[in-house]
Amino acid sequence: RTVYVNGDFLPEHEAKVSIFDRAFLMADGVYEVTSVLGGKLIDFDGHAKRLQRSLDELEMRSPVTPEELLQIHRDLVEKNGIVDGLVYLQITRGAPDDRDFVFPDPETTVPTIVLFTQNKPGLAESPAAKTGIKVISIEDARWGRRDIKTVQLLYPSMGKMMAKKAGADDAWMVEDGFVTEGTSNNAYFIKGNKIVTRALSNDILHGITRAAVLRFAREAQMEVEERNFTIEEAQGADEAFITSASTFVMPVVEIDGVALGDGTPGQRALRLREIYLDESRKAAI
Ligand code: PLP
Repeated sequence: RTVYVNGDFLPEHEAKVSIFDRAFLMADGVYEVTSVLGGKLIDFDGHAKRLQRSLDELEMRSPVTPEELLQIHRDLVEKNGIVDGLVYLQITRGAPDDRDFVFPDPETTVPTIVLFTQNKPGLAESPAAKTGIKVISIEDARWGRRDIKTVQLLYPSMGKMMAKKAGADDAWMVEDGFVTEGTSNNAYFIKGNKIVTRALSNDILHGITRAAVLRFAREAQMEVEERNFTIEEAQGADEAFITSASTFVMPVVEIDGVALGDGTPGQRALRLREIYLDESRKAAI
């Protein structure tokens, strides 16, 4: 695999980052994952904008312009022959001379930028979309700025392990009695013609797929309610689903052991998946 590190395209085993890098020592870095379908980037602009917002919130700057970033994405996709897959991008505050809690001087410590691809043939034809996934609920024990897409992923990683040990596929996190989001996705339920998902705030990541799917849902004359909801309310719904750049729209068929509807993917969720994939492929760059 060819990867990108600080200006160079290199074979992955030659790519190196300092042990003093702030992301390695303090998770002081942000990331984005953009999907590739048919060799093209899905919603690149959305991801580039959110990246800039994450950087701004952390007083970090990008070492590349948005135009350069797009070119690096395209070059990596081409160099690695990716038809369907993902591009992972990470920018960190860089590697100062020594470990220190205080942010280093941005004049002397430049940010680190790393990109690599993941080859996922048939990404959009995931078998999981046909069966749906099972989720469990867990406490949301993350920090308070979940709107910033940082590389602090230990708790979401633990959440996935809790799900796996419980025989489920993922976990929905709950805070003060209400669902925030999935470990790496936004969470929704459908009742009648209405889609319910938590409103945007610092409590959840502002999903790029979420924004697109809610737009398509409204265009398809579905009602969208952005508000808090409980696990019990979702268990009583007709359908449920999650969204993320890598899973698109994925039906949820079971929540904490309670099957939704007849326990198979809901028609509305499947329809939204189809619309999302069709429209995103058309707009891909
Ligand atoms: N919420 C969390 C916590 C995530 O980690 C992600 C994606 O990684 C999402 C939601 C979905 O965001 P997007 O649709 O931009 O991939």
